[in-house]
Order: sequence, then C-alpha cells, then structure tokens
Amino acid sequence: MNLKDKVVIITGASSGIGRATALKLAQDGAKVVISARRKEKLEELKKEISDKGGTALVVEADVTKRDDIKNLVKQTKDTFGVCDVLVNNAGIMPLSYMKNMHVDEWLKMVDVNINGVLYCLAEVLPDMVERKSGHIINISSVAGREVMPGSAVYSATKFAVRALSDGLRKELSPGHNIRITCIEPGAVETELTESITDEELMDDFKNKMGDLDFLDSDDIAKAIYYAVTQGDNVHVNELQIRPVSQG
Ligand code: NDP
Repeated sequence: MNLKDKVVIITGASSGIGRATALKLAQDGAKVVISARRKEKLEELKKEISDKGGTALVVEADVTKRDDIKNLVKQTKDTFGVCDVLVNNAGIMPLSYMKNMHVDEWLKMVDVNINGVLYCLAEVLPDMVERKSGHIINISSVAGREVMPGSAVYSATKFAVRALSDGLRKELSPGHNIRITCIEPGAVETELTESITDEELMDDFKNKMGDLDFLDSDDIAKAIYYAVTQGDNVHVNELQIRPVSQG
C-alpha cells in the first residue's frame, strides 16, 4: 500500500515508539494525527514533520477519557475526512511486585493499556466497517506472551491487547476487509520505565536488563511501516521484534 495521503492516528506520539512511527509514516506521505497528553511535545514533533515536508495534526487527548478520544477522531474526520490507520500505541509500564500492593498503578495500567485501546477502537471501527477498509495496529509486547516476576499486571494488559487483536482479526478481516496487526516489541530504549516506583523491583530490573543492547524506537517504527505498506491482499498479523541480546 502506498502511504501517500493515508490518514493515520497515532496515540502516545509524544515520545518513544509513537513519535518514531509518526516521523517514519509522515516521511512516506501519510497524514499523521499525533496525539498524547503533552501538547508541547506534540507541537515540537509537528514542526519537525512539517520542516521535512510532511503533514501532521496535533490533538491533545488522554486515552482514559472517552470524550477526549471522541474528539480525537472527530477532529481527524473534520480535518482529513477519514481515518485509514489507527496505531494504538499509548501505554504505561509501572512494573511492581504484587506483594508490594501498588494497587493504584495496577488500575491505571488497565485503564491506559486496555480501556484506552477500547475507546479508540470504538470511535474508528464503525466507519471502517462501513467503508470495508482500514488497518488497526495494536502495540502489545513480548510481555504479552511471557510473564516475569513484577510484570503480572502489565503482562495481563498486553495479553489482553493480543487477545483483542486476535478477536478483531477473526471478526473483521474476512468480509470486512479490515487488517489488524499486533506488534510485540522486546526491550526498546524509551521513557517507558520512568513510571516504575517500586524500588525493590527497580533494583532487580536494572540488574536483569543492564547488559541488554536495547532497540531504538525507530526499529519498531520500521516494523509498523512494513505492516502498513503491504499489498492489498497481504495481512501481517503479528510481528515480534527483540534486541539480539534479549533471550
Ligand atoms: P514512552 O513512555 O516513550 O511513550 C508512551 C506514550 O504513551 C507517550 O507518548 C505518552 O504520552 C503516552 N501516554 C501515556 N499515558 C497516556 C494517556 N493516559 N493518554 C494518552 N497518552 C498516554 O514508551 P514507549 O514508546 O516505549 O511505549 C509505547 C508502547 O510500546 C506502549 O504501549 C508500551 O507498552 C509498548 N512497548 C514498549 C516497549 C519498550 O521496551 N519500550 C516494549 C514493548 C512494548 P503523554 O505522557 O504525553 O500522554
């Protein structure tokens, strides 16, 4: 598929994987709708995209607020008429040991990583179903396949994203021509670990991850680019991308 003039909504575009994806897709001609809570970061990204000749629309939105997501999709349609691709990327990872009872963080993860995805799906799917066209990219994780001590709740949310992707594909690909791709990154150097407050876990995490040669966000953006630029009959279901040093 040629990305020229395709309209792509990217949540969590203010940093890391979302930011790199916006740059990569805009470089190939996509009109990117970049969304997150930190508007100033989004404005900086928009300028970077515009300076390179691309087109970006900034929409500030918290994925846990359904009205924000309604507004995100409305502004997309008012500006560009359609949403061709949704990248459900916004996510948080305040890892913690269950025994340390970071209950508010458990609930916040469920809200951002699962409810946030559902709110976005609820706004874009009706048009995609009607048009019999569209592509949903869901960002899960290798933690959506394996559970480690300290990752139980995060993994639960990422298992959920993978289950949603599977279910969507089975319902909406045959007959409705909607493609669903689940991206499962390994360790990528981003701001993601900054939300970890469990000091006991953080000490163990640093020891465990210390030797890893982390991927760059751009490595994942390239995988997303691959998934969205395949031919009409090609459906990339899942991509798992890890650093070579991560077993
Ligand atoms: P970052 O922390 O760099 O980016 C997370 C993005 O999510 C930010 O743009 C942040 O923007 C946004 N976000 C967080 N909470 C909300 C919210 N309530 N509403 C809207 N946006 C929100 O991390 P990554 O780039 O690494 O993470 C992107 C995705 O990749 C996540 O789903 C993560 O789980 C997944 N992933 C990352 C891996 C890694 O090793 N880095 C590995 C596997 C998966 P803002 O704060 O401005 O709202």
